[in-house]
Amino acid sequence: MSFTEPAIYLPRPLVNKLLTHAQKNPDVEVCGLIGSDTSDNKSYYPINNISKTPHCRFLLDAPQQIDAIKKMREKHQRLFAIVHSHPTASALPSQMDIEESSYKDAFYIIVSLNTEGVLEMRAFTQQENNMTEVELILLH
Ligand SMILES: [Zn+2]
Repeated sequence: MSFTEPAIYLPRPLVNKLLTHAQKNPDVEVCGLIGSDTSDNKSYYPINNISKTPHCRFLLDAPQQIDAIKKMREKHQRLFAIVHSHPTASALPSQMDIEESSYKDAFYIIVSLNTEGVLEMRAFTQQENNMTEVELILLH
């Protein structure tokens, strides 16, 4: 597979946090934000999913989101990515994800629990009304 955008990098400990968050809540989509500073130091900020149908979509809790952005600022980070999990679907954006995505400057990272024991995590950017996959590389 070829990618048109530059790859993005995530440190393993951060990826483990995302996975643990998703695996502990296997019946609902979990969500959160990743902040990154200019030296590529990244942090994960889990956010409650307040959707009324959390098994198939996510809605970030607004006060927690504001709080996470504030913490990012304190660490000189910017919003790098929006993360959510798919309990039963693959790690591809749903039609809803494409329609509801509103952060043009952040990556979308989807973790899938579809296949037990296998890590499926993919990253996307939004362009117009489409999501384009970006290569995701894990740093050890
Ligand atoms: Zn989704």
